[in-house]
Amino acid sequence: MTGTAVTNWAGNIAYTAGEVDRPGSLDAVGELVARRARVRVLGSGHSFNEIADPGAGGTLLSLDALPAEADVDTAARTVRVGGGLRYAELARRVHAHGLALPNMASLPHISVAGSVATGTHGSGVGNGPLAAAVREVEIVTADGSTAVIGRGDPRFGGAVTSLGALGVVTALTLDLEPAYEVEQHLFTELPLEGLDFETVAAAAYSVSLFTDWRDPGFRQVWLKRRTDQPLPAFPWAAPAKVALHPVPGMPAQNCTQQFGVPGPWHERLPHFRAEFTPSSGAELQSEYLLPRRYALDVLHAIDGIRETVAPVLRTCEVRTVAADEQWLSPSYGRDTVAAHFTWIEDTAAVLPVVRRLEEALADLDPRPHWGKLFAIPSAVLRDRFPRLDDFRTLARELDPAGKFTNAFLADLLAP
Ligand SMILES: Cc1cc2nc3c(=O)[nH]c(=O)nc-3n(C[C@H](O)[C@H](O)[C@H](O)COP(=O)(O)OP(=O)(O)OC[C@H]3O[C@@H](n4cnc5c(N)ncnc54)[C@H](O)[C@@H]3O)c2cc1C
Repeated sequence: MTGTAVTNWAGNIAYTAGEVDRPGSLDAVGELVARRARVRVLGSGHSFNEIADPGAGGTLLSLDALPAEADVDTAARTVRVGGGLRYAELARRVHAHGLALPNMASLPHISVAGSVATGTHGSGVGNGPLAAAVREVEIVTADGSTAVIGRGDPRFGGAVTSLGALGVVTALTLDLEPAYEVEQHLFTELPLEGLDFETVAAAAYSVSLFTDWRDPGFRQVWLKRRTDQPLPAFPWAAPAKVALHPVPGMPAQNCTQQFGVPGPWHERLPHFRAEFTPSSGAELQSEYLLPRRYALDVLHAIDGIRETVAPVLRTCEVRTVAADEQWLSPSYGRDTVAAHFTWIEDTAAVLPVVRRLEEALADLDPRPHWGKLFAIPSAVLRDRFPRLDDFRTLARELDPAGKFTNAFLADLLAP
């Protein structure tokens, strides 16, 4: 690709590499990596910051010309997925074998390797981030050779949510479970005052609360119930009368089926249908992941600056994530509440609000979503990710010359 700027999905980042290399075979990936001085992989480009940018003179590599592998082993209940595959295609192939993933993000459009690299998650008090399903990764490292790192390997804690800093992930093997069905039940107007967060968050397999923060409380509640689990009463809000989109003004037809109609897991766990633009399309995003035991403090802290947040906000989504063991995961070692913000598409207006929000949450130990906008300095992040030193050691072992480091990571990974 030449001539036109290569940008992320949101269009707020133009990658300085200027063009994308698309090797057509694994051998070509290895040869290219061995030859180049600086390399970053572009997944489906759904991150909102410079995390994928190799910098001027660097190589931006896409795996979308590799064969779209998704090899399901029905006996072992696993799938080996190629490094370029997106969740929509993976889910379709897995479901055809009567199997399922444990969870999905709000959209199926994102690549598997890029999603687990940043700690991408869905919701549910019992559901870890998407990386929790990964049992093995295959990584083309700096010299062009392949390292295979599986559960049980002492390096595994750094190998999945790796921010692309270890090399090119060419395949991942994921755990599966028998296919299941899910229903979505939507409610409106859940008050913040008197909220029993733990009970509400555990009311279904996956629960999301949405608000515009123009008024206190939540405009929408989305319960995703597995049909093999009970449906508890939800007396705190009224059932929705019409189909809803989480972003005010956007068409509900872009969203997965609501009104309690049961359907396959991959057509209910994401909010957005694979064939439509997810979310609003004209937006920026930030997200902070904090200890779940602070959930009410977090919500009241945001409510306290509602008048600053609301004017640049399209929607805010509150979810939960179960603790996981990836060293750089924002939910590492702690059951988590995640506060996500879909902002208007105006970086200059949004960044001061992001800083104000970070100030308001600072005492509650927030970790940023690696794929979204944040302003927390690396010096502070070092304290917020207790296994960062272990990750840095692993990165130096697999990539001694820093071939896979970029400006976004340089400070964080500096000795
Ligand atoms: C509309 C929208 C909705 C979203 N919803 C959610 C949500 O529900 N939950 C959530 O947690 N996040 C969500 N996100 C954020 C998104 O999931 C993350 O930004 C995720 O990383 C995107 O995956 P990607 O493939 O587009 O990654 P990219 O942005 O392309 O890359 C992310 C990182 O992964 C690296 N990478 C990608 N592929 C490879 C590879 N094969 N080998 C090595 N490194 C690689 C890149 O170098 C980069 O560092 C959303 C984003 C959008 C735009």
